[in-house]
Amino acid sequence: MQNMLKFGLKTLFLLVILLGAGAIYSINQSQTYGRLINYVGIVRGATQRLVKLELAQEPRDDLIAYLDGIQNELRSGEGPYGLIRPDDPEYNKNLSQLHQQWRRLKKAILAARQDKAASGALLRASEDYFDLANKTVFAAEAFAHKETSMLLRLIVLMAAFLLLTWLFILWAYSRKMLLLENLNKNLNDMADRDPLTGAYNLERFKREARELIGTGEATHYAVAYADFADFKYINDVFGYEYGSAVLREYAHIIGKELKGNEIFGRVSADNFVILRRYEDKEEVLARQQTVDAAITDFMHKSRYKQTLPVCCGICCLEDAPGDLVIDNILDRANFARKTVKNGAYAKYAFYDESIRDNLLEEKGLVSQMQEALNNGEFIVYYQPKVALRTGAIACAEALVRWKKSDGQIIPPDKFIPIFEKNHLIAELDQYVFESVCRSLRRRLDEERPVLPVSVNISRLQFYEEDFVAAYAAVKNRYRIPNGLLDLEFTESIACDNFELMTEIVKKLKQEGFSCSIDDFGKGYSSLSLLKSLPIDTLKIDRLFFIDGENKERDAILVESIIGLVRKLHIQTVAEGVESPDQVAFLKSVHCDLVQGYVFFRPMPEQEYEAAIERERERERERERERERERGPRRCRSLNLNRATAARKANDSPPSKMPRRHVCRAALSPGRAHDADRQR
Ligand code: C2E
Ligand code: CA
Ligand code: CA
Repeated sequence: MQNMLKFGLKTLFLLVILLGAGAIYSINQSQTYGRLINYVGIVRGATQRLVKLELAQEPRDDLIAYLDGIQNELRSGEGPYGLIRPDDPEYNKNLSQLHQQWRRLKKAILAARQDKAASGALLRASEDYFDLANKTVFAAEAFAHKETSMLLRLIVLMAAFLLLTWLFILWAYSRKMLLLENLNKNLNDMADRDPLTGAYNLERFKREARELIGTGEATHYAVAYADFADFKYINDVFGYEYGSAVLREYAHIIGKELKGNEIFGRVSADNFVILRRYEDKEEVLARQQTVDAAITDFMHKSRYKQTLPVCCGICCLEDAPGDLVIDNILDRANFARKTVKNGAYAKYAFYDESIRDNLLEEKGLVSQMQEALNNGEFIVYYQPKVALRTGAIACAEALVRWKKSDGQIIPPDKFIPIFEKNHLIAELDQYVFESVCRSLRRRLDEERPVLPVSVNISRLQFYEEDFVAAYAAVKNRYRIPNGLLDLEFTESIACDNFELMTEIVKKLKQEGFSCSIDDFGKGYSSLSLLKSLPIDTLKIDRLFFIDGENKERDAILVESIIGLVRKLHIQTVAEGVESPDQVAFLKSVHCDLVQGYVFFRPMPEQEYEAAIERERERERERERERERERGPRRCRSLNLNRATAARKANDSPPSKMPRRHVCRAALSPGRAHDADRQR
């Protein structure tokens, strides 16, 4: 382009010079032709005058000499008058005839001077001369015309050329300007875009959105705020390259789906915002779901086959009347997103004012958490799990409660999901775990009976690199014997990343923990994962024990699950069991443990310890009774009894709990209700 422009400029310059020279030459030539025509005309006129004078007996030799001079110069093209000898056959023919006729005329003049009678011949010769002179003038004119029109054509042609070149230069220049402008635009555009996905950055998104929603159709716009649930997991487990590929593809899918006057941008990491037009709200949701289904499909088809749900908050401008400030609309869509964040499935929420209130409440809880931890407001409750074979408390689950300074108790369902969303849960989990260890240590030091305790592990902790080491360190610091601590992972964690789960469970077992899969059947329900996952316990979710129309189906499922799991030597716990009928059924299908209100509600530590003590007391009482009954026969059958006891011990199924700690107490369902006080 640069070279073309240079060439064009050079050509233009040359053409201007040529055109200038051509113009000067043509002006000069037209003067010369004019002079030539003029002099041929003078020859014609002066000869007529000469003949007239000669006929009037006034000889004019000076005029003859003057005409001779002109005639000679016309023929030679050289002389004082600046006449040229054009290279034109017609003119030259006429000129040579004119010259011959001039010679004849001069002879006729001489003859007429001597003899008056020759005047007639002079007159005729003069007329012939006049005719020839006329012809010569015409020939000179025709030649001059031909020459000047040729020059004119040349000039016109050159001018056209000049114009064309000029136009070309103009075109090239404007094109270059346009290119520069585009380049500039592109550079500006690039600065406004996220380099990874090509999406607008937040600032640009806001700028463009402001313009679009300022068009008067604002109420038909909606902002969607989309976020992958736990994207960190993708980056951590499969690497940033794959994470980036997912984000790029998501941006590509969103961009492809957009219609006119719609935009999208990347706020940060895995957060995208999309401004769409809509006719009805269903349409906004459907379009977002289409986009999310496409990215899920992409992830599913990738070599990792791992999908992550997208959580999305949508704020329709019609739901934020009187406030079209884009920052506030984004905040609202984000509020809505936070209400559905970190679910196991894609979730969507439309903004309404109640969301805002909930969020403010949530923010309040989050901001109070640290102080509550420092003030010891989080209390660990224990819910015993009863062994169906013996009817004794076999172990317990630690469940946290938040007891505010005013005595109000907040159940975990209220704050655990919030802490999970805000990535605060690990600290709380560790706090609960340490409280459990402290309590076990105290009882061990006091030589009181202890039972294994399960603690919950949130999914976020699971991906912490030092998770196993951190828990093992606390366990060792409190010198808790192996087998007394059980960790409960939800089923969704196990399904999400089977390899990592297997590796972690193995490490935990090496450290002396046992592991449970919690809430089995609530979500993914993949029995196949148990095949090679070395867990100790499977907790069947309470959903199976809620009385409803699927009661019989649930019973069949529970029976099958327990049957299968027992074969894998995995202990089963039925959660949320509330009725004695359910207990009878579970007993009949060989479920190992029951955790439910039918026996115990979660209770404060003191009550839990009292329950264990009571059980131990009852156990001792029964032992004493047995001793009394056996007393008279004791000596006789001592050897026999010892043998039977040993056989019984060998026959009993393997227990996951350390036998020496287990406290037995015969419980009948529905009898011993140590109530969870806040319920
Ligand atoms: P989860 O781990 O499934 O715990 C069992 C929940 O079922 C407890 O609710 C318990 O009170 C309740 N439950 C037990 N038996 C029955 C019954 O017969 N009927 C009914 N309707 N419910 C029963 P809770 O204590 O409110 O805990 C709720 C959830 O909060 C727990 O579910 C667990 O996911 C979470 N959670 C509790 N403490 C912690 C903790 O320290 N860390 C973490 N990460 N999560 C915790
Ligand atoms: Ca649990
Ligand atoms: Ca559970």
